[in-house]
Amino acid sequence: MKELQDRILKDGVAMNEDILKVDSFINHQVDPELMLHIGQEFAAHFKDQGITKIATIESSGIAPALMTAQCMGLPLIILKKQPSKVLNDNLYQTEVTSFTKGTSYELTLSSKFISENDHVLIIDDFLANGEAATGAMRLLRKAHATIAGIGILIEKSFQPGHEKLISQGLDVYSLARIGHMEAGRIEFIE
Ligand code: 5GP
Repeated sequence: MKELQDRILKDGVAMNEDILKVDSFINHQVDPELMLHIGQEFAAHFKDQGITKIATIESSGIAPALMTAQCMGLPLIILKKQPSKVLNDNLYQTEVTSFTKGTSYELTLSSKFISENDHVLIIDDFLANGEAATGAMRLLRKAHATIAGIGILIEKSFQPGHEKLISQGLDVYSLARIGHMEAGRIEFIE
């Protein structure tokens, strides 16, 4: 998606070879117009697939996931990050390791909002090692929901997440794919 790539080149900051900062337009200050166009792009790609719900992981995925949900006329489920395990029959939980923080959290979903009849599209801001997306799928599958695909704003294609998800036969649609990055330089691949 050219609009997102251009914005990354203009306002994204490659901190080093691994971490891209996008806090001026995606995850701290948010550009609603860009998020709307992202929602429209995902809605067009994933249309007519019997999707019943959009899911994202708090908090950076919420803005683009909400716009996608709005464009598709579907509810949005926010998978919550809890610091520790909660013993409660009405909750699904699974442990995920954070790429940016190196710590773990319990991804949590109330059984009220998911069932075996749901076919879910997962939206997230970044794809790096694929831990967040894999954790989200594990959680949704605990409720016997099925996964329609994964929509990613920025994929760092030089990290293993993309390969990990593709090799499971999943539809991974990334709007900007970074092939190489270093401080002050970002290169995209198609
Ligand atoms: P993964 O689980 O695929 O390793 O990492 C994805 C999660 O880590 C995303 O939800 C995102 O919040 C965070 N993340 C991964 N790489 C970056 C990055 O380069 N910049 C920022 N801001 N967040 C990242």
